Amino acid sequence: MLTFTQRLFGKTPSKETSDQRSEPDHYLLREVEKSDLIHKDQIDFVIQHLNNEIDLNKTGNKLTAEEKKELGINPRLQITHELLAVLNENARAQYDPKSVLSSIVMKANFARSHDENIQNYRSMGLKQYEVVGCKDDRNCTWCKSMDGKKLSVSQSINELIEENCNCDSHCRFVTVAVLT
Ligand SMILES: [Zn+2]
Repeated sequence: MLTFTQRLFGKTPSKETSDQRSEPDHYLLREVEKSDLIHKDQIDFVIQHLNNEIDLNKTGNKLTAEEKKELGINPRLQITHELLAVLNENARAQYDPKSVLSSIVMKANFARSHDENIQNYRSMGLKQYEVVGCKDDRNCTWCKSMDGKKLSVSQSINELIEENCNCDSHCRFVTVAVLT
């Protein structure tokens, strides 16, 4: 384990050990904690990985073609045992287990930007915002039904997404200000 950590930190610039030791972004932390695909005792590792403090996929300990085949993982995917170790059985059974982590990052980024935007609409004195969805088949039924809806600036879109959205990786809504 020592060599593993040494190797990881040996590659990163020294500033990262001090500067980036700040509190993890709470949107990211929330998504990681909410995920039912990550081992709960590995959350710290996952946060460090997603904050680029360590890279669990650059340990050199890659799964062999045989191991990937056995697990049903995309044979072309570069994935390490250390990355796989933070994921539970359900995540490991996916064709692309790495997508579990990218999906968490996307959810956190969207949630953060929704809050920031709605906060801006409020400070501009606006009363409503409009939900704009992507016009493709990747949207879940709820997302399709929400496209074009106008909501009060007091309504958190994140709450609605959390309760209703079943999109595969993450909800891709954007919001726009309603000026009239
Ligand atoms: Zn959805």
